[in-house]
Amino acid sequence: MKKILILAVGLIAFLFNAHAQNCQLQKQLFNQLQNSNSQKLMPTAGDSIHVVHYDITIDSIINNSVKAIYANTKLKVKARVNNVNVISLSLLKLSVDSVKSNSTLLTHTYNDTTISIYAPNTLNINDSIELTVYYHGKPLTDASGWGGFYFSTGYVFNLGVGFAADPHTFGRAWFPCVDEFTDKATYDFYIATEPNKKAFCNGILIDSSLQANTNNLIWHWKMNQPIPTYLACMAVSSYYTLEQNINGIKAQFATSILDTTKVKNTFVHLPDIMTTYINSFGPYPFDKIGFSMVPFGSGAMEHASQITIGSAFIDGSLTYESLWAHELSHMWWGDKVTCETAGDMWLNEGWASFNEAYTREFLYGKQSYKNYVSANHKTVLQFAHVDDGGYLSFINVPHAYTYGSTVYKKGADAAHTLRNFLGDSLFKIGMQFYMNNRAYGNANSYQFRDDIIASTE
Ligand SMILES: [Zn+2]
Repeated sequence: MKKILILAVGLIAFLFNAHAQNCQLQKQLFNQLQNSNSQKLMPTAGDSIHVVHYDITIDSIINNSVKAIYANTKLKVKARVNNVNVISLSLLKLSVDSVKSNSTLLTHTYNDTTISIYAPNTLNINDSIELTVYYHGKPLTDASGWGGFYFSTGYVFNLGVGFAADPHTFGRAWFPCVDEFTDKATYDFYIATEPNKKAFCNGILIDSSLQANTNNLIWHWKMNQPIPTYLACMAVSSYYTLEQNINGIKAQFATSILDTTKVKNTFVHLPDIMTTYINSFGPYPFDKIGFSMVPFGSGAMEHASQITIGSAFIDGSLTYESLWAHELSHMWWGDKVTCETAGDMWLNEGWASFNEAYTREFLYGKQSYKNYVSANHKTVLQFAHVDDGGYLSFINVPHAYTYGSTVYKKGADAAHTLRNFLGDSLFKIGMQFYMNNRAYGNANSYQFRDDIIASTE
């Protein structure tokens, strides 16, 4: 994802304000870190169970002053170890109405953060169980203001990462889950909307059908590739669907019908940028390219195959081209291969930031790339240590700085340096080996290093 903190009129004003606000945000986050007692070494739900598939059904969205959803999520859960009697799922400050397996009610407890479900039978390794959690309430936005669930006039949508949340994965804001980078599942979404609205989610649209006993529509989307919880998404509005064929891949833009010309103009280089990514990193990993425009002024989020992006950045110009190019590159860097821990976030964000520069070379020439990289390098030298409270390695930064300058900008600097060191032919071989070797899985920084060495020496 990329945070853009202010929509400035002039570039200088933009950079100045973004930097100043960034510092402020980082300080807030640092204070939160000081108050956090999280320990990465504690056992997590994902150590004992794996969710293979989620069916997320939202029967009703109330987007007035109430701001609530009524929902159920069916999970196919598989035991990773023997003797699992209690299944723990994360769900953040919603009301759990009941938990069932098939039609049998299961005993559970809920403490606003974790649902503990007593399995009807002890699960041993590779045993499976289907659970359905019925719940309702008002999904939260993250304490940082960036991420979570948003109700605004005419729109309801989520952003799957919480900048202040621990863990940063933020599926638990709207569905019960194993909310970890390393637990990847396939998804079906059944989202009910008013008849004049549409829901957009990851994957491909299967159908829209009438909801029983209402005039509402149910939008069924299917995500065939496994993704972590933070990349699952929904966006609902009175959308117009603008479609385009990009190198044989369907692109779908969920936009206001008034903004279709802006979309076409801002995304005019989409075919070229797709070609750059496919040639460099391998085939496009998902069933469609998607963008949902939403009223969000602070950036965009790389939900797999359906990027959520602030409408103001799709203004008909190329001013924010690097923003959507950054998000699109996450389809490889983060979505196809996901960082194993928050400390490996540079594998997502450093590389997506590098790709802002990389795509410029193919659109505007080598000098444009060099200028972008040089400016980034200068920013790293001047500000990364100021922004992030000291000189940090871009690997294993503290939780408060997961989305800070060291990870994004110094990480991008490292990617550029690696490209320069390898040369372009080995660079592409190494990147494609890594993408294939870790496809639809995770990687840590050492595995990345080892993959590049093994494929390029
Ligand atoms: Zn990003």
